[in-house]
Amino acid sequence: FSLIFLSTCRKAGGKFAFISLWFIICVFVFCEFLIYYTVMFSCVWPDNEATLSSQRGEGSTPVLKTLVLSDTHLLGAINGHWFDKVRREWQMERAFQTALWLLQPEIVFILGDIFDEGKWSSSEDWEDDVRRFRQMFRHPTNTELLVVVGNHDIGFHYEMSWFKLQRFEKVFNITSARIVTKKGVNFLLVNSVALHGDGCSICQDVEDELIKISRALNCSIQKTHKPGQLKSSMDKSPHFVFQHYPLYRISDVECTGEDAATLEERNLVFKQQYDSLSLVASHKLLWWFQPRLILSGHTHSACEKLHSGKFLEISVPSFSWRNRNNPSFILGSISSYNFTLSKCFLPRESTVISIYCSAGALLIIIILTYCQLLKKNLHYAQCLVSKHKIL
Ligand SMILES: [Zn+2]
Repeated sequence: FSLIFLSTCRKAGGKFAFISLWFIICVFVFCEFLIYYTVMFSCVWPDNEATLSSQRGEGSTPVLKTLVLSDTHLLGAINGHWFDKVRREWQMERAFQTALWLLQPEIVFILGDIFDEGKWSSSEDWEDDVRRFRQMFRHPTNTELLVVVGNHDIGFHYEMSWFKLQRFEKVFNITSARIVTKKGVNFLLVNSVALHGDGCSICQDVEDELIKISRALNCSIQKTHKPGQLKSSMDKSPHFVFQHYPLYRISDVECTGEDAATLEERNLVFKQQYDSLSLVASHKLLWWFQPRLILSGHTHSACEKLHSGKFLEISVPSFSWRNRNNPSFILGSISSYNFTLSKCFLPRESTVISIYCSAGALLIIIILTYCQLLKKNLHYAQCLVSKHKIL
């Protein structure tokens, strides 16, 4: 009887180890895969008047499903711990791939600071950073991915060089000032790092190009006002300006929402050409393009700011857990005459850590209780064995 008892105990131990292993695997799969689907499942494209009217059969203005994120800051070879790199890059990859699967955007914009160390990385490190970026942000051919350059990609104005700029532009097939037109919507992508206004060769090039685009847009708007004329691809008035630096604002003091800057950060006064564009460059952009909406990054926190009472700017928070606990991205349903936006939050890093800690604590308690129980049973079995021997 005692031998049967001992063998039953051994079998129960094996079963317990098996269940524990399954528990660990389940927690891991949930925290590293399923949590992204669970949290982002509630994200939907915002209703656009154009979509609604086409559903009612009142017209068919195309609506572009646009996803915008910012400040991914892929770590380079110099800064950051390897675990930090692996952890945060996995988080961004899973979040992006889940967003693609759930939402199927037609176009994705990343508003700069894609890399953390593009400003000083060697050619080999740069190649490795680009390879990892391509792996993380892989996307199907029916989704277009466009980027703008940030100060961490090519350095602040004083660190920027033609070599670093061209290296970035070549990889992402972009230029420093470019109009992209999709479904009749004009997006102006600007290298805001070059809007320093000091006449440096890069700055002058970008400014000249912006003036040229502004004139072309204004001419085409005037042309469309003449009756009977055909519309060109650049003839729609609403321009969406996408860039890395925000337009000049005194601070984030007016910014609200759960992903705005912290209370201490909100009161810090912005330094022109460091935290935001200069006042002069901001006025120039608004004057040239009269944009309907400006989306920018750089601050890592959310903010909505109305410039001159009519130009709305939205700061897109960072997409990485490295910069905030609750990253997010913007979903836009954009047509040639209006747009609606919503925000989609990713899982919080603190939630994932809490789940791991709670699961770990629970497992330890169960193991200790089980060991205690096993010890008692073994003791009982040993007593039985010794009694049997005496008899
Ligand atoms: Zn930046």
